[in-house]
Amino acid sequence: MDELDRAQAREEEMRADALKKRYPSLPYTGHCHWCGDITGGGRTFCGAECRDDWQREREAARRAGRA
Ligand SMILES: [Zn+2]
Repeated sequence: MDELDRAQAREEEMRADALKKRYPSLPYTGHCHWCGDITGGGRTFCGAECRDDWQREREAARRAGRA
């Protein structure tokens, strides 16, 4: 793992942490909340892309007053 990988891993951790604080009720189901893939390891999304898409959708719904 080089320095760039470490920096990215740190950022991923920070973002996952921020998401957890922001949406503490998001349960671990063993499946990605966005695409439904099996995740495992206590992760609520299979990857950063799914999490970002899910979050964008959630934020959009919030702005639209639906959430
Ligand atoms: Zn996914």
